[in-house]
Amino acid sequence: MRRIQEGEVPPDGATALQEDPDRPVFRGNGRYDYVCVECGNVLAHAMDLEQMTKRVRVKCGRCRTINVAVVDWKGPTLAHATSPAPEGSSAGDLKDEP
Ligand SMILES: [Zn+2]
Repeated sequence: MRRIQEGEVPPDGATALQEDPDRPVFRGNGRYDYVCVECGNVLAHAMDLEQMTKRVRVKCGRCRTINVAVVDWKGPTLAHATSPAPEGSSAGDLKDEP
């Protein structure tokens, strides 16, 4: 997730408040956990990308930072979405010159 920007929240928008820092506000059955941009606390557990849109905001129960979900497929938003690199694919620079 990322820090929310000023003016980004609609006047009628709502922000979910995490009352217990040890319990995620949202629980789903998706593939991604969403963590606080500031302290890394888990705000939403096992969510799908479709569930976490820009309209979903969570105020961290630990550091009080308001986080907004952003669809950033390569960014730190998807804390646990990294897939392991294939083994043995990084040794392409070896040359066998005399
Ligand atoms: Zn936090």
